[in-house]
Amino acid sequence: MIAELLKNSRKIVIKIGSNTLSNDDGTINKAFMQKLSDNVNDLMNQGKQVVIVSSGARIAGVSTIQRWRRKEDIHYKQALCAIGQVELMDAYRRVFETHEIHIGQMLLTREDFSCPNRTLNIRNTLFTLVDEGVVPVINENDTVCVAEIKIGDNDSLAALAANLWNADLLVLFSDIDGVYNKNPKVFKDAELLEVVTDPVHLLETIEVGDTNDFGTGGICTKIEAAKTVNYYGIPMVLANGKKENILTKLINEEEKATLFLPKSE
Ligand code: ADP
Repeated sequence: MIAELLKNSRKIVIKIGSNTLSNDDGTINKAFMQKLSDNVNDLMNQGKQVVIVSSGARIAGVSTIQRWRRKEDIHYKQALCAIGQVELMDAYRRVFETHEIHIGQMLLTREDFSCPNRTLNIRNTLFTLVDEGVVPVINENDTVCVAEIKIGDNDSLAALAANLWNADLLVLFSDIDGVYNKNPKVFKDAELLEVVTDPVHLLETIEVGDTNDFGTGGICTKIEAAKTVNYYGIPMVLANGKKENILTKLINEEEKATLFLPKSE
């Protein structure tokens, strides 16, 4: 079913989590980014349109200045994001340049999605970039956000962007194959849920564990994202971005993931 969806979807939002973007030592995984750009290029050559939502500014900041990794002070976190966002976009620019694809940065906040005027501007910019063959790379605007107004995780941001853009499919890349009945990092016998049709009640049937070092949202925000897009009839796939060429493998049915399928009317 995931293979069919990927083949048939024209407008795809791909969200990349911090854990997917980072190596085990906390540096940015540039090889992953190159592969991602190769995959996005393939999708675009098939006539598809792609919007990227990317986390990773903080890890990019840490790996750039080699300090403040354990600082919990919000201002240091924001400072790290300010430093890292530049590095992150530079890395994206370099990999997409190999395919002669331009990228466009969009830094957004939760407030932007509740203000009709801003929403319209976001929508228009998104459509213009994509129509012109540019790949928008969205991230939360960490420097203007304090805890109360932060969307807080890019899973929600990706879901809001997918709804705003009327995407056909939202793909979340994390470092696990999908949602399990318990944390697969802790329990070797955890079972992958291949299709979820009721994200609203999912948390009543699975156990949720911690996130990883650089993860922000954990599995709960991924389930929230599924609720948000499924409500608008958009399916969501949670897949393992750490696996090489995962999109191709999903299309060829060589890998498994979790599909959140909206209930048909
Ligand atoms: P990302 O940075 O990719 O957005 P997070 O670290 O925020 O990822 O969330 C994914 C993590 O959630 C997984 O690596 C896993 O350890 C953890 N997790 C906890 N419970 C579950 C579960 N039931 N199914 C899948 N993953 C889970």
